[in-house]
Amino acid sequence: MSDFLKMKPLDFIHFLKKNGIRRFYFVYDANQGAVRASHPVLQPLADFLQNDHRDFAQHEGVFCHITADPETVQGAFIHSTHRGQAQGGTRFWLYDCMEDFFRDGLRLSKGMTRKNALAGLWWGGGKGVIAQNPAANNRDPQIRKHVFRGYGKLVTSLNGCYVTAEDVGTNTHDMDNIFSQTRFVTCIPTSVGGSGNPSIPTARGVVRGMQAAVKFLDGGRLDGRKVAVQGMGHVGLPLIDFLFKKGVAEIVASDINPENVKRGQEKFRDKKFQAILAERGDNSILTMSCDVIAPCATGAVLNPQSIPAIKAKIVCGAANNQLEDADRDDRLLFERGILYVPDFLVNRMGIVNCANEQYGYVSHDDFIERHLNIEWDHSIYQMTFKVLSLSHDKGEPPAQAAIRLADRLAQEPHPIFGHRGVQIIRSLIQERWHEQD
Ligand code: NAD
Repeated sequence: MSDFLKMKPLDFIHFLKKNGIRRFYFVYDANQGAVRASHPVLQPLADFLQNDHRDFAQHEGVFCHITADPETVQGAFIHSTHRGQAQGGTRFWLYDCMEDFFRDGLRLSKGMTRKNALAGLWWGGGKGVIAQNPAANNRDPQIRKHVFRGYGKLVTSLNGCYVTAEDVGTNTHDMDNIFSQTRFVTCIPTSVGGSGNPSIPTARGVVRGMQAAVKFLDGGRLDGRKVAVQGMGHVGLPLIDFLFKKGVAEIVASDINPENVKRGQEKFRDKKFQAILAERGDNSILTMSCDVIAPCATGAVLNPQSIPAIKAKIVCGAANNQLEDADRDDRLLFERGILYVPDFLVNRMGIVNCANEQYGYVSHDDFIERHLNIEWDHSIYQMTFKVLSLSHDKGEPPAQAAIRLADRLAQEPHPIFGHRGVQIIRSLIQERWHEQD
């Protein structure tokens, strides 16, 4: 294993500085099946990527730079641009070592290719990753301004093969700072033309996923069923509202925040509704006797501890990365005969909102609404039904079936611009991007 992987981000930055490197890249050469580094001294990292079977999947390019004051290492991971510009949010996170930084970028960008393809967006998949400087006050608006303006410069230098957005650890103010340096950013504040909070459409999308799963399970509808919702936050609370409006008979929900529990109790006091105050890390809501469980709080809640105790026949919620181990837990649920609607299929509305920001807004926009109707081929409803059918017919767990379907769709070229992202990457290399500033 390359020594670079074990380095802390700050040590890696110091190594780069000592070698006069400010920008570097790793680019996949499809003809040779090899990953090339911008600098010979970094080739061991390129070799690591090339030989890694866990997270590397012929990513088209990884472009990074370092910033000063605060010192950070920042990356744009471009997995695939067949369907269009690589798109995915920027994660701002404290990484122990460079391996974690690279693995997060590789894994998350591949996930974005799949999410965008299943959503029928003409976008490829990418991800931004910034390693926080542990010595900096990362909440300080001035520090964040430097960090995200720096990131905007990285993004703009890539000539549009990557378009960024919000993700864990970033917010619309950070996007505004990025936007001051590049046009290749979405999820910007509404005050400068952004699309705003996507939580309501996300909740509506979860309802559509549930409707498709219930239909697949027994041909029925949501009316009269009992649902358990974990988390009464931005998605969970409107989800409960929509579910009651769809005729769900009874809902039990939990949150670790007493204010959210109180808000739920007040809002739904006329309904058959129970709100539970849970301890942090308590997942017992998922084992309630009910028809559907909806994880809408944190990730990794579906695991060998929780899965054997689940009584519901359907899992369908908004939380990202619900499976603690994507392969193991997808299979565990499948073997128990529980229909799992993959999170990356059902919680797409955030990215859908951002996808159309450049095209302006109309009320009841069909380019948003079609994701939430039941007719469109790529709607959440149709895709959920398709994935569950594939899973059943092929005898493979649903997240696996969704990934196979997504990987096929991800190969479709953009109808106007084709595979333009690789052309952009090639021209960056020809223009010696790594030597420019
Ligand atoms: P949020 O922070 O507003 O709500 C999450 C809620 O879960 C909070 O109220 C929190 O107190 C609660 N919670 C945390 N741990 C809990 C536990 N063990 N038991 C019960 N409650 C717990 O977040 P959100 O915007 O509602 O998003 C929910 C999930 O959906 C997150 O995983 C998010 O990444 C994902 N997601 C959200 C969107 C969106 O549009 N907001 C889009 C895609 C994915």
